Amino acid sequence: SDGLVILGASYAGVQIAVSAREHGYGEPILLIGDEADAPYHRPPLSKGYLAGKVEEDALPLRAPGFYAEQRIALHLGTPAAAVDRRGRAVVLADGSRHRFDRLAFATGSRARAIPLSGADLGGVLSLRSLADARRLRAAMEGAARAVIIGGGYIGLEVASSLVLAGCRVAVLEASDRLLSRAAAPPLAAFVEAAHRARGAQIVTGVQAVRIAGQDGRVEAVECTDGMSRPADLVLIAAGAVPNGEIAVSAGLGCDQAAIIVDACGRTNEPEVVAAGDCACIRQGAAVLRLESIQNATDGGRAAGRTLAGRPGAAPVVPWFWSDQYDMKLQMAGLPTGYDRHVVRGRMEDGRFAIYYFRAGTLIAVDTVNRPGEHLQARKLVATPGRITPEAAADEGTDLRALAG
Ligand code: FAD
Repeated sequence: SDGLVILGASYAGVQIAVSAREHGYGEPILLIGDEADAPYHRPPLSKGYLAGKVEEDALPLRAPGFYAEQRIALHLGTPAAAVDRRGRAVVLADGSRHRFDRLAFATGSRARAIPLSGADLGGVLSLRSLADARRLRAAMEGAARAVIIGGGYIGLEVASSLVLAGCRVAVLEASDRLLSRAAAPPLAAFVEAAHRARGAQIVTGVQAVRIAGQDGRVEAVECTDGMSRPADLVLIAAGAVPNGEIAVSAGLGCDQAAIIVDACGRTNEPEVVAAGDCACIRQGAAVLRLESIQNATDGGRAAGRTLAGRPGAAPVVPWFWSDQYDMKLQMAGLPTGYDRHVVRGRMEDGRFAIYYFRAGTLIAVDTVNRPGEHLQARKLVATPGRITPEAAADEGTDLRALAG
């Protein structure tokens, strides 16, 4: 048999391979990735790695010998260009073909490009890969002024690293608040205040219109408010788009280039699974697309089980984290559509939690510098009905007992 071919060698791709093996898949597994680096941890790229606290030797996802032990063949450095479904083969950009019985998409997402004049100037960067992070870390040396385009998690994490490195930073956010896609207003407001207190300039409701430069180097970002903000470093951090083009061409069911899967990672084709940032999960008539390690890992696990012939989806609570300055932010659940929130602890102390309820049911909890409470919160969100807003707001409530 030609076995399993997995496109994309990161969290979801590696987890699919590992879980397929764990659940008894015995055929060959080929993991194809376009990056030259062996699979590595992405979150530190905008956090500890930029701050110089995490070095490259700490980044690999697995020890070097792991893949051979698991009989997982790695093919790195060449992208897949197309899938020939009738011929059951993947065609790589160098023209080589790899036949498969089963195929997995784990192609993730890429930094959204914005069509700005001057985006090709030296000193204008984006951040998705280790290669990008090496360039950004080099560019930080000696950068005195930076403009970050996009007030999402990656933009804000890089902003905090730059501020701590002594750089003057302005963050431009097109919408009227930070983290508009990824966090509820109460947490976003706290984060914004924390950035301002550290001296970062936060500019909401404003977009970049042009990047100006001289001799091929960036000098300023011209904005919709008429201001030209000087910069020797610009980071475009305007979100991520799924790498779904190959799946779309191959005829898989997609929603805006994100491959539609069920809770077991199954696509609309029986031999194909997908997981991670390139996928979205069907939930009734809607789809949910998440960009997180938790989603890539849990989705990869589900898809791997499906490939091994043992489908089974564990119900999961989405969770995420972000490190900025001295703040460890941890988010459990999704606060979409909350109608009430309560704060546990005092925001002024920089250690607190926000509990979000919808129709009396806890749906999400954000914690700041309370890692233990985050773990309890994940359990509380997973089992509705365990806590009321009043109990959540009361610091005397024994969360561990309620979480069970
Ligand atoms: P990816 O990690 O994107 O991997 C997909 C891989 O497939 C990539 O190597 C890509 O190059 C490759 N690929 C794409 N197309 C092809 C092709 N045609 N052929 C071969 N290979 C291909 N999440 C958190 O939960 N917490 C965090 O703190 C956090 N911080 C982050 C910080 C940064 C800087 C970034 C960029 C992301 C962060 N995320 C964080 C998000 C998290 O990293 C992603 O959700 C996760 O990496 C998704 O895993 P994935 O395997 O689905 O996709």
